[in-house]
Amino acid sequence: MREMSDTDLRHTPVRFLDMERVNAPFIDGIAAALADVARSGRYLNGPRAAAFETMLAEGCGAAHCVAVSNGLDALRLIFKAYILTGRLRPGDAVVVPANTYIASVLPLTELGLRPVWTEPDPLSMNLDWEAAERTVDADPLIKAILTVHLYGAPAWDDAVARRLADRGLLLVEDNAQAIGARTASGARTGALGHAAAFSFYPTKNIGALGDAGAVATSDASLAAAVRALANYGSDRRYHNIYCGLNCRMDETQAAVLALKLRALGAVSAARRERAALYQTLITNPLVVRPQWHPGAVWHQYVVRVEERDRFRRFLAHHGVETDIHYATPPHLQPCYAGSAPARGALPVTERIANTAVSLPVASASLSEVAAVSRLVNAWR
Ligand SMILES: *Cc1c(COP(=O)(O)O)cnc(C)c1O
Repeated sequence: MREMSDTDLRHTPVRFLDMERVNAPFIDGIAAALADVARSGRYLNGPRAAAFETMLAEGCGAAHCVAVSNGLDALRLIFKAYILTGRLRPGDAVVVPANTYIASVLPLTELGLRPVWTEPDPLSMNLDWEAAERTVDADPLIKAILTVHLYGAPAWDDAVARRLADRGLLLVEDNAQAIGARTASGARTGALGHAAAFSFYPTKNIGALGDAGAVATSDASLAAAVRALANYGSDRRYHNIYCGLNCRMDETQAAVLALKLRALGAVSAARRERAALYQTLITNPLVVRPQWHPGAVWHQYVVRVEERDRFRRFLAHHGVETDIHYATPPHLQPCYAGSAPARGALPVTERIANTAVSLPVASASLSEVAAVSRLVNAWR
């Protein structure tokens, strides 16, 4: 490799996430789809949401899908439906990885379920299934496992999951970051457990022009309960079987998402190609690369660096934006002060929070990834 000059290091501005670039390939289709919806006069509970539901269900291999308002609501609806149909009761405990976005935990505490904050595997940064099984063995009040496919890497162990399901535990996936991902055995996330929540927040791998989400499940009665709950609790017009919510997906978002979902394979392949390039090019021993998973869809490419702030300042000085997912884990957020484990109680989670750095992956070109890798390797 030729020597790197100071000029090579400077003048390589790379945005962390350029939404204009992400949406550019879809812009004409989006404009046409939005005009279509506007002209149709049907903005909610219409054919576009229904078509998107069919598409997503087929795509992930679940029998049913309900298009909803966002990813947080998808999780709330799943757990609320389990409570209303008697599968869970307030006071039941749910295993949840401690290193997740707070939206994984909020629905549990809102509904009176007890989060069992669980340390991740330090290498994969995802749920350690064998440790989770030991946790379940020790606490008979645990009735469900909420797994999060963090950063787009599937968190699943077929054998342990089967044993837990055989014991009557509910397995719920937070699939907000991993649409299109596959486990080591080739199974698709979103249809691994009993129910899954999807988010189509604009920056997710498939993003709406605002908020949107979905629930996927092969349990017909759960799907019916979620669908009713999301529409004021009504199973038919003006007939309310539950005290429900309003968590529907707009027809505009469904039309945009149907367009983007068709490109899921290409979106995942582009992210995987960029992650693979980082994985080959980054050789700096001070920068720990993420564990490679062939079925991951790389919602984020997260390295770990001891002197994170200095590392980020160095990259920023050379024009490279980075981000942190997530600097403060949910159990240390002010809203959980006094009701969650104290600082120091979840050392693996806290270490990840203190050392994680996300490099540009969603909108970066391959040459930008190469330039960022050169900078990462030049850091001392
Ligand atoms: C984005 C996200 C959510 C929440 O989705 P919204 O659509 O923003 O409500 C939940 N869990 C995880 C892991 C997420 O990344």
